[in-house]
Amino acid sequence: MTFQDLNLVAPILEALQQEGYTTPTPIQQEAIPIALAGKDLLGCAQTGTGKTAAFSIPILQLLNEAPQQGHRKIRTLILTPTRELAIQIGESIAAYGRKLPLKHVVIFGGVPQGPQTKALKDGIDILVATPGRLLDLMDQKFINLNDIEIFVLDEADRMLDMGFIHDVKRVVARLPKERQTLFFSATMPPEIQKLADTILVNPEKVEVTPVSSTAEKIKQYMLFVEKSNKKKLLVSILRNDAIKSVLVFTRTKHGADRVARDLHKSGVPAEAIHGDKSQGARQRALGNFKSGATRVLVATDIAARGIDVEALSHVINYELPNVPETYVHRIGRTGRAGASGTAISFCDTSEEFDDLKAIQKLIGLTIPVIKDHPYPMPEPGMVNIRLPKGKDVVKRTDANIVSQQRPQRHFNKHRSGKKPS
Ligand code: AMP
Repeated sequence: MTFQDLNLVAPILEALQQEGYTTPTPIQQEAIPIALAGKDLLGCAQTGTGKTAAFSIPILQLLNEAPQQGHRKIRTLILTPTRELAIQIGESIAAYGRKLPLKHVVIFGGVPQGPQTKALKDGIDILVATPGRLLDLMDQKFINLNDIEIFVLDEADRMLDMGFIHDVKRVVARLPKERQTLFFSATMPPEIQKLADTILVNPEKVEVTPVSSTAEKIKQYMLFVEKSNKKKLLVSILRNDAIKSVLVFTRTKHGADRVARDLHKSGVPAEAIHGDKSQGARQRALGNFKSGATRVLVATDIAARGIDVEALSHVINYELPNVPETYVHRIGRTGRAGASGTAISFCDTSEEFDDLKAIQKLIGLTIPVIKDHPYPMPEPGMVNIRLPKGKDVVKRTDANIVSQQRPQRHFNKHRSGKKPS
């Protein structure tokens, strides 16, 4: 199938050609005809599937079919959880709609509202917004949603994770009852299903790459390593020049800063990106990463949500996420648009083994463990036994061997990559 087969108008086809898109992705093939037909849509798709274009393209075409006369009113609202995603959606609309006379504005918090309200005053067709700033500007009467014809709720499950679900409901309550709604979520936890049931009318459901099926083209590896050795292990991995562009995930903002700082000290240039950085600093770090000027970007999950770098070769989970779906989101940052990617995860088995089990249950596979690395740690139920000459062998703790407190020469080749001397 080509984009021509989707009955798109020439200006959009030309813009897509300029973007270098030849074939619609599965979500685009299914969602574009549904949206063009004016139907509600429930799209189960994660970032990286081409879902932004799947909703942006039909919206552009529908709005262009009935252009506005006089002062423009906001006819489409796209609600998305993070500033980075909002900016990226804005860029997509600008790209796919570059040959159409439609206007859009992107609004998000953390920056002065002046330039945003000024842009809104001029009249626009499409508004891309994060929930907090939208409600704020609505309360100040800079925005009203009375003329919305199409409403997109993007990354609904992430809205829930980030505590925005109440804000989303407040926004929905202000929308006209008669409208088209396009609803996207990577996962469908019960609360999100309930929200979808209340805001969609007879939706068509489109599901691609369910979150539990991690992209097959991504190679995944698990390295057991003590927390105190993670820094050294990361440095040793990043010294490998074959790693061209890598996103390192930490659980906390503080952790992201610390890892970036430690890498710097060890001679591996890196930048950190998280919610406590100013918008300018985040954009700069992202720009450097996208252009290839920065090879290593350390990020928290929320900050990384909108990062879209096609050439990303590696993702490293410095810490495992405690929400298993987050693992799928993280590793989905690599291996995009047909490229292959590698995801390496560090697991301190004394603290993160339950997280690993939850991830493996969700994705339905056992992630291969690399034992041959400089700072190995045994899996739970096993201990490292120090042998003469500093060689370790891994033994079961229940094998009476620990209590003997003396070196054992017995070698369990299924459990250890090292031979005793
Ligand atoms: P998304 O899932 O919307 O974040 O898109 C993931 C990436 O795929 C973005 O970099 C898009 O520019 C790219 N993309 C979207 N649709 C296509 C397509 N049909 N062909 C090639 N790349 C695409």
